[in-house]
Amino acid sequence: MNLKELVLEVANRLEQHNSSPETELIHENPRELLIAVCLSAQTTDKKVNEVTYKLFKRYPSWESLADSDLDELTAIIRQVNFHKGKAVRLQKAAQVILQQFNGEVPQNMNDLMKIPGVARKSANVILNEAFNKAEGIVVDTHVSRVSKRLGLTKNTDPKKIEKDLMEILPEKFWRNFSGNVVLHGRYVCRAQKPSCAECKLNDICPSAFKV
Ligand code: SF4
Repeated sequence: MNLKELVLEVANRLEQHNSSPETELIHENPRELLIAVCLSAQTTDKKVNEVTYKLFKRYPSWESLADSDLDELTAIIRQVNFHKGKAVRLQKAAQVILQQFNGEVPQNMNDLMKIPGVARKSANVILNEAFNKAEGIVVDTHVSRVSKRLGLTKNTDPKKIEKDLMEILPEKFWRNFSGNVVLHGRYVCRAQKPSCAECKLNDICPSAFKV
């Protein structure tokens, strides 16, 4: 099996199990998703969901977030890692979205990356989840680890991993591949003690039972 056949097999098998993978970040609209994604760096989705429950009630619009008191905002998100920097960037993000994008979350990579706190990975998640679009492949810690174990890349830099995956995987699979591999990495191919015996990829994975 060559690399293109392998990645297609992986994508198809994971998709059979879950044809519509969704983020575990709780949100009801693109604004809430963007905020949750910005908070999620170096923090579990569970912790972000605990914080956003209160945050979304306190700041129900971009206007309220843009005009927020920074100390109060920082206190509300203090449970997430790097909360001080994230509070500053969230407030700036709200201001930029109001000033440059008429209060609407942009629907393309280029504009999304003009927003403070939104890097390429976050932009990919927002496009996937809020707009069902894919301009790239989300490469987080799970996608990095699983892709390496499956032999889909030798790189460690997320941008290079994303490029490798985009070269071998047809575009129509990008959205679901990201979502499914994140979930696979979180619940099956974990960093410590992956569940190779229960893994539906164990007959095609070069790392099976070796990690
Ligand atoms: S077989 Fe093991 S190492 Fe390979 S993808 Fe599955 S859980 Fe991960």
